[in-house]
Amino acid sequence: MAQLLDGKTLARRLNQGRVRPAAAELSRPPGLAVVLVGSDAASQVYVGKKTRVAERMGFHHRQITRPAETTQDELLAIVRSLNEDAAIDGILVQLPLPKHIDEQTVLDTIEPTKDVDGFHPVNSGLLSQGRARFVACTPKGCMVLLREAGVELSGKDAVVIGRSNIVGRPMAQLLEQANCTVTVCHSRTRGLEEKVRAADVLVVAIGRPRQVPGDWIKPGAVVVDVGINRLDDGTLCGDVDFETAVERAGWITPVPGGVGPMTIAMLMANTLESAQRRQRPPSRGT
Ligand code: NDP
Repeated sequence: MAQLLDGKTLARRLNQGRVRPAAAELSRPPGLAVVLVGSDAASQVYVGKKTRVAERMGFHHRQITRPAETTQDELLAIVRSLNEDAAIDGILVQLPLPKHIDEQTVLDTIEPTKDVDGFHPVNSGLLSQGRARFVACTPKGCMVLLREAGVELSGKDAVVIGRSNIVGRPMAQLLEQANCTVTVCHSRTRGLEEKVRAADVLVVAIGRPRQVPGDWIKPGAVVVDVGINRLDDGTLCGDVDFETAVERAGWITPVPGGVGPMTIAMLMANTLESAQRRQRPPSRGT
C-alpha cells in the first residue's frame, strides 16, 4: 500500500509557516493580480481559490473579471497596465482564454519579472537552461512535494505523460535537472504501457479520467497524478486509477488533495519571491 503524497497538508504548512510570515516582513505586501476573461466554471473555481489563499497570506490581491466578448486588445491593455503597476508583483491570466484571443500573445505581453505562472518564453527559456527564475507552479509544486517527502530522484527512470508548456514539458526538464533519466510520452507515443511499467517515477498530466490503470504501475514506483477530471456525478478524479494504483505504488498523490493545492502554494511562493526581489535595494556597483 502506497504512502500518500499529501499536497493539501504540505501546502498549508508552506503557506502558513513560510509564505505568510515572510510576506509580513516586507515593507509592503506582495501584490497578485488575477485576470479572468469569460465565465468558464472551472476557471472561476480556480481563480476564487487563488484569490482566497492570497487573502489569507496577507497579500494585496486584485481579481479582474471581464466578459467573454472582451477583445484581445482590451486584454492586452489590462496586462500592460498591470506591468506598470508598482503595487503588483505577480500577474496571472487564467487559461483557457476565449477562442478569439491568442493565448500566446497575451502570455508574451506579461512582464517576465512579474510572470509568476512561469509561462513567458523568457522564463521557460531560463528553466530549460537550468537557471530558472519563475518555474511554472504545477511542476514546481510536484517537485516540492517529492522533495519534502524525501523521495530520492537521482539516477531514477522517470516517465512524464503529457508535453504541454504548462505541465509536462517543464516537469520533464525539472526531473532531468534532478538527475532522472526522463522519457516524455504523449498522444502519439507507441507502447505507453511498457514505458509506464519501467518507470520508477511516473508523472501523469493527460486530462482524461483514470487513463493509466493501476496494474501498469511498477511496484514501489512514485506516482504523481496531475490530472483533475470532473465526472458526471460531480466528483473529481485523476488521470491514474487511484484505487488500483495505490496497491502497487510506493508513493502516490491523491486527487483531490495532491498536486492541486501545491500549485496554488507555488503561486504564492512565486509572488512572494517577486515581491522580495522588487523590494530588495539594488546592490552597490550594479
Ligand atoms: P493539455 O491538454 O495541454 O496536454 C495534455 C497532454 O496529454 C498532451 O501532451 C497530449 O499529447 C497528452 N495526451 C492526450 N491524450 C493522451 C493519451 N491517450 N496518451 C498519452 N498522452 C496523451 O493539458 P495540460 O497539460 O494543461 O493539463 C493536463 C491535466 O492536468 C488536465 O487534467 C488538467 O486539468 C490538469 N492540471 C492540473 C493542475 C493542478 O493544479 N493539479 C494544473 C494544470 C493542469 P499531445 O501533445 O500529443 O496532444
